[in-house]
Amino acid sequence: MAENSCIFCRIAAGDAPSNIIYKDELAVAFTDVDPKAPSHVLIAPREHMDSLNDAARGDEPLLGHLLRLASKIANQIGIAETGFRTVVNTGEDGGQSVQHLHLHLLGGRKMTWPPG
Ligand code: AMP
Repeated sequence: MAENSCIFCRIAAGDAPSNIIYKDELAVAFTDVDPKAPSHVLIAPREHMDSLNDAARGDEPLLGHLLRLASKIANQIGIAETGFRTVVNTGEDGGQSVQHLHLHLLGGRKMTWPPG
């Protein structure tokens, strides 16, 4: 997908409105526009990748960075001690609706298992 037609690329570039709560040279984190929990943050790499299906061996440091950010941001927004869930939806069966890799960070309520 071309960068200018990808909403998360546009958010990362500052070209679309969002509530960014963290950013660095590799990734941005912003609140989900339709939150599924009291705290719902999306963590996305600046570089476009459609989904986890496109991750290559060379992306391992980036993927690790995204997970580490989940922990850091959970701490920042005060859900680390009570707990949180991290989710990466992939493809149609996975329920992915935005075709730019992102990690959901959800907290502030008790999660159920298994997921729907
Ligand atoms: P997924 O279904 O896993 O692809 O997750 C996509 C998420 O992006 C959904 O939870 C949407 O509510 C959220 N979303 C879509 N557009 C925006 C946007 N412009 N700003 C913030 N969150 C968005």
